[in-house]
Amino acid sequence: MFDKILIANRGEIACRVMRTARDLGIRTVAVFSEADTQSLHRAFADEAVLIGGPAPRDSYLRSDAIIEAALASGAQAIHPGYGFLSENPDFVEAVTAAGLVFIGPSAQAIRAMGLKDAAKALMQDAGVPVVPGYHGANQDAEHLAGAADAIGYPVLIKAVAGGGGKGMRLVEHPAQFMDALASAKGEAATAFGNDAVLIEKFITKPRHIEVQVFGDGVEAVHLFERDCSLQRRHQKVIEEAPAPGMTTEMRAAMGQAAVRAARAIGYKGAGTVEFIVDGSRGLRLDGFWFMEMNTRLQVEHPVTEAITGVDLVEWQLRVAAGEGLPCRQDAISIRGHAFEARLYAEDVPAGFLPATGRLAHLRFPDFARADTGVQTGDTISPWYDPMIAKLVTHGPTREIALQRLERALAETDVAGTVTNLAFLGALTRHGGFRAGDVDTGVIARDLEALVAEPELAPWEWAAAAALAVGLDNIRGTFAGFSTAGPIWQQVPLADADLRVAVTGPRRALVAIAGQELAVEATDAGLRIAGAPALVRGHVAQGQVSLFGPVPRVVTLADPLARAAASGAGADVVLAPMPGLVKAIFVVPGEQVSEGARLAVLEAMKMEHTLVAARSGRIAEVLAGPGAQVEAGAALVRLEEDA
Ligand code: ADP
Ligand code: ADP
Ligand code: MG
Repeated sequence: MFDKILIANRGEIACRVMRTARDLGIRTVAVFSEADTQSLHRAFADEAVLIGGPAPRDSYLRSDAIIEAALASGAQAIHPGYGFLSENPDFVEAVTAAGLVFIGPSAQAIRAMGLKDAAKALMQDAGVPVVPGYHGANQDAEHLAGAADAIGYPVLIKAVAGGGGKGMRLVEHPAQFMDALASAKGEAATAFGNDAVLIEKFITKPRHIEVQVFGDGVEAVHLFERDCSLQRRHQKVIEEAPAPGMTTEMRAAMGQAAVRAARAIGYKGAGTVEFIVDGSRGLRLDGFWFMEMNTRLQVEHPVTEAITGVDLVEWQLRVAAGEGLPCRQDAISIRGHAFEARLYAEDVPAGFLPATGRLAHLRFPDFARADTGVQTGDTISPWYDPMIAKLVTHGPTREIALQRLERALAETDVAGTVTNLAFLGALTRHGGFRAGDVDTGVIARDLEALVAEPELAPWEWAAAAALAVGLDNIRGTFAGFSTAGPIWQQVPLADADLRVAVTGPRRALVAIAGQELAVEATDAGLRIAGAPALVRGHVAQGQVSLFGPVPRVVTLADPLARAAASGAGADVVLAPMPGLVKAIFVVPGEQVSEGARLAVLEAMKMEHTLVAARSGRIAEVLAGPGAQVEAGAALVRLEEDA
């Protein structure tokens, strides 16, 4: 076995590989970019080497710098993770030429599967069923249109060099073919530098079922299937193993086809053979076809680990170090059911736009496997994939594993960025999915319901308001408590008419929409209107995050705009919300010009700079640094205009 390996990747997968290496007593070397100097994968490794700038082409895609780091640190082998250089045959050759071991298949095997057209031809020859279609060399538009007519609509145009759903177009009618072809080719040229496409029959009610294979260069076994049908725009969202409705015969047929594929290319290491399955009439032996092979460890490999008990990274390391297949086919069996959900920093209502932000708070429940590369305080940067974590649950049955996934999502707390947590939670409650009735169109068909964000309920507003004013803070930084009776203060959240009155230590009343709700902060969370439900949340950067089955984010309305709009008067600068005076920059008698900084107020863990609305002389400073002020408190007064 190796003594030391380098992981040519970042994030969760780098941490994942290191965990197993550590268990096997192998030392680890991380590489990191300038954007990842504070990253978990760097900290987790025994050694770490800076390899360049934030852009992948300046760091994680630089094979020269990575190989140099491996040689300099004395690593004997390189694990590529997924993405980046993992399926780059030139990298494999360079690694081997440097006298190092590539933990993965040969360059030749990667090349054989690199282009979808060549891979399909190869699989056809090996007796593996492939999706009916045209995967020849003639790229003439008329010829391709003719091929589509012959296949019969609907058809799918696919970039032969494609990946990640890019360069793919569904065409339902012949009239749309030419436009779709042009746009698929354009996207493929930009993304892959290769505009060649193939045409496939579009399978109706398609299911994506893939088979995990493992080879030692000669022999191969499979570790059953994963169902990845829950997709959005051809990208996997929730994966599971085994596939719902799978029969023993179908599993054997798909497993054998996948093993044939692996043997045909002398496959070494972990790989995935992806099949498209016709789900319109149940799973049938004549209803599955090879789509492509991914020659690496797959993002969703943990569900296979959960049901088989195999550590796939351990197998990768063993086989790369020269050992044979760790076990025979008949020694591998399925135990229970597993799910994986991909948690992303993304803005779901805005069309699943990737989001960024500093993770002010991040916590996973300990009963689920959470593969992550970030922790509280880390930043999701715009440079890389915005995945925060993969949550994996296992159970004796599909029902129990899914129930656990739902609970794991509800008990995952993220503050500091918007996420797809609520969307994932909604998916776990989707009727069809719960029943195991899956196909790749589920999300698109029910998108509206899945992304619907109900209005905040009064109890949610009350929780947000209470957290915003720091009610849960034991030290009680909120100074609004008065024995003379409640003092109502406006909380400027999301333009709601929301007022809070502190009624005692860690107790308050919140007025919203004509109701008054009592809120009590306990160590376990907020208790609202005497209801038994305890609400947890976090305040950071002007945002209140409420955790739970339907996570919410409430943003501070721009307090300065509000102050200006309320015509606070140019003479007096008022605190736009309750908060702590952090600094006062002026003294009485001082002349200031319009826009000059007068004070900084901290509220909701965000600093707000208060500026002069006009030029003039300071008449009075009414609060000092460290003072806790209420909304509307006068902080600085200017002399009246002459
Ligand atoms: P990529 O390399 O981008 O992953 P794939 O060939 O694996 O491309 O296809 C991605 C997804 O597109 C599949 O998971 C499936 O949802 C859908 N898809 C691919 N081929 C077909 C087909 N012939 N019919 C229906 N859906 C398909
Ligand atoms: P952390 O949560 O990382 O410890 P801070 O050290 O900034 O963050 O937290 C200090 C204060 O922030 C607490 O006293 C409390 O007012 C607020 N806070 C922290 N965690 C939460 C939470 N889960 N819900 C609401 N407010 C919180
Ligand atoms: Mg694919």
